[in-house]
Amino acid sequence: MSFQRPRGTRDFLPEEMRLRRELEQRVCAIFRSFGYLEVATPTFEHLELITAKSGEEIVERLYSFQDKSGRWLALRPEFTAPVMRMYVNSLQSAPKPLRLYYFGPCFRYERPQSGRYREFWQAGVELIGSATPEAQAEVLALADTVLRELEVSYELHVGSVGVLRKLLACHGVGEEEQVRIMGMIDRGEMLRAEDMLKELGAGEVTATLRSLTELRGGAEVLEEAAELLRGCGDALKELHRLGEVLEALEWYGVRELRVNLGIARGLDYYTGMVFEAYVPSLGAEKQVCGGGSYSLAEVFGGKPVPTSGFAFGFDRLLLACSQKPAQERRVMVIPLGVEMLKEAVGIAGMLRSRGVSCELEVMRRRLGKALAGADARGVSHVVLVGEELRQGKVVLRDMHTGEQREVKVESLPEVLSSA
Ligand code: ATP
Ligand code: MG
Repeated sequence: MSFQRPRGTRDFLPEEMRLRRELEQRVCAIFRSFGYLEVATPTFEHLELITAKSGEEIVERLYSFQDKSGRWLALRPEFTAPVMRMYVNSLQSAPKPLRLYYFGPCFRYERPQSGRYREFWQAGVELIGSATPEAQAEVLALADTVLRELEVSYELHVGSVGVLRKLLACHGVGEEEQVRIMGMIDRGEMLRAEDMLKELGAGEVTATLRSLTELRGGAEVLEEAAELLRGCGDALKELHRLGEVLEALEWYGVRELRVNLGIARGLDYYTGMVFEAYVPSLGAEKQVCGGGSYSLAEVFGGKPVPTSGFAFGFDRLLLACSQKPAQERRVMVIPLGVEMLKEAVGIAGMLRSRGVSCELEVMRRRLGKALAGADARGVSHVVLVGEELRQGKVVLRDMHTGEQREVKVESLPEVLSSA
């Protein structure tokens, strides 16, 4: 009998794991450079935490189950609700603002395809305790910095759920219906949203809503939007707030963005500015990042606190990065005969203690076979320990060029470090 992995999950072999760790470290280092501190939450939570405010869309996509005492639990589908629960439990009295970041696996019952898995990783941040335009802009600028530093070709689209919701409110659409309509807009089901508005007796808003969600462009788009929103003061206020965030984004040097008032986001908790980043080369699953401003603490029994955050889909980010496997240095120490084994072990140990990772040939193969084996394993440099050791030297072989030279043992770490 043979076992297969569950659908939508993946194994990561060493080469891929190396790339994943490398990317994780690069992304998290950028988070830290903006002053964000790492946190972690449990892999599963009470089901109600997730269903409280994450939208009907996500509920259908949950891995939920009862434990042995009958409690309903769910594997986390994202981090924002868990992090805000943690904030309410333990951090409410901490000095504001709080800058937190996380990295870890999330679980959603989805139809797997390239870039869409049932177990996937998110890397994201939450900035808790400020509603200023510069705080919201910081979060956006941080996402932008990550994408720019990874040198992927991307688009950043910024909108406002606040504008859309206040427009609907202006036409008598209640909170709950607003949320459902946001979900439909997010999934591109504009006709369904319009039908629902007609049923609610708010048919007159459909034309405005459609024009608004189709607006794309630079900051000048805000003027067109203001025209469309004439007479709806609350929506105009939200639009003004978006304008302030866009202005602050210029201070941060984020210029390559598009205003896109069609961004509605699938999750229920967004209140104001929202944004998404796309990497067009990824095709259908091109959204690598989503975020915005929201208010969630009160849902978990805390005092309301303005928060902004985002989550990168880490797996998509990895797909987006041109995966030229970096010319990694990989060293193997080969004793030329059993009689050199003890010396070879010693040299390998010395290299490790000097910060040079290396592996030892332990198969007792003849030189030709040992070199072929090293080549097959992707070794870049071989240290041959033979009779030259009497003069305190070893032979260093560059596996890519085939070039060999004698190197003094004491200078070996330095030579390899710069190789
Ligand atoms: P989508 O609309 O593509 O289903 P989403 O809007 O539900 O995604 P978010 O909840 O905002 O996604 O999650 C943030 C990011 O996590 C997304 O931008 C995406 O890159 C990534 N992501 C979401 N679901 C998956 C998945 N099943 N597999 C891989 N990455 C995912
Ligand atoms: Mg989405």
